[in-house]
Amino acid sequence: MAAKAKTLCAQKDMLKDNLSKYKKLVRNARYICKKCGRAACDEKRLCKPVALDS
Ligand SMILES: [Zn+2]
Repeated sequence: MAAKAKTLCAQKDMLKDNLSKYKKLVRNARYICKKCGRAACDEKRLCKPVALDS
C-alpha cells in the first residue's frame, strides 16, 4: 500500500504507524472535521472540513 493522500479520517492506522507525520499534520491544525472531530492543517485531509477560526 503506497502512501496516498487519503483523509486522516480514513487513516485509522496512521497514528501508530506514522506518528511523527501525523503530528505534523495536526500540529498547526486550521481545520476540524465536522463528522469525525479530527483536526488537520490541510482541509483535504478531512472528510467534512470546517475552518477552526470561522
Ligand atoms: Zn472526517
